[in-house]
Amino acid sequence: RYYVLSSLLMIVLTCAAFYFIIRLMRNQRLYAEARVAFTSNMTHELKTPIATVALALESITRYDLVQQPQKLEEYLSIGRQELQRLNLMIEKVLNLSREQDVDYPLNRVLYDVQTGLQDVVRSMELQLANAGAVCKLELSPEPCFVYGDPVHLTNVCYNLIENAIKYAIAPLLLEISCAVVHDRVVVHFKDNGPGIDKIYHDKIFDRFFRVPVKGDIHDVKGSGLGLNYVRSIVTRLNGTITVKSEPGKGSDFMISLPAAT
Ligand code: ADP
Repeated sequence: RYYVLSSLLMIVLTCAAFYFIIRLMRNQRLYAEARVAFTSNMTHELKTPIATVALALESITRYDLVQQPQKLEEYLSIGRQELQRLNLMIEKVLNLSREQDVDYPLNRVLYDVQTGLQDVVRSMELQLANAGAVCKLELSPEPCFVYGDPVHLTNVCYNLIENAIKYAIAPLLLEISCAVVHDRVVVHFKDNGPGIDKIYHDKIFDRFFRVPVKGDIHDVKGSGLGLNYVRSIVTRLNGTITVKSEPGKGSDFMISLPAAT
């Protein structure tokens, strides 16, 4: 009887060991795959703006665009926009490493979210036009002041608008609104894109998470860091970000920040 029991125990232990080894190997494989995908996507995302800025600068000298103010402004605006994109990428990656440490300080200065939104939309005009997008900015008559970090808050807006452009499947209609509601500044970024299934509404804010590829968004490059960065900045400023979305019905990202009094 003792022999049977010890044999059974051995079998159970061996099965458990196998199970854990297989699970470990699977996790390591998934981790390695995620690392390769992240590195290749990130390299692509960092190289693209650098190449575009180089091309814009080269075109200015090659075609002596200093003599053509309108064209010059167009190329300079491309350069500005791409540098902003690069800045956002770097901030996202820095955020990744900073988060391992204790909370890093954010600047908290009086910042009008509406003015910030107007600046971001202006700087993205070419990108929106290239995508054939219509962007409606609904502002309130009063300024929408918060205490926040202008660089990071600009990046937050830029990220959400860029996502709307990136994931659009038909000509993009982007409706951005900003208003003070009670003691909060509430900003909506509402698009007519592919929408996001409810099961992913929390997960999209996780680091590296990307909605599994299917259909139209097949070629969209990304790192899965953008919304995690956005949420990290917004929550550090005592705000919240939520999404309302359904597949085929677009997405509405809502940010709520304490209004500065
Ligand atoms: P990335 O865009 O680099 O993949 P994000 O963290 O910005 O990373 O977004 C996470 C995921 O959320 C994206 O991969 C995409 O599937 C989904 N997503 C984000 N914004 C939108 C949007 N406006 N419309 C549809 N899907 C979106």
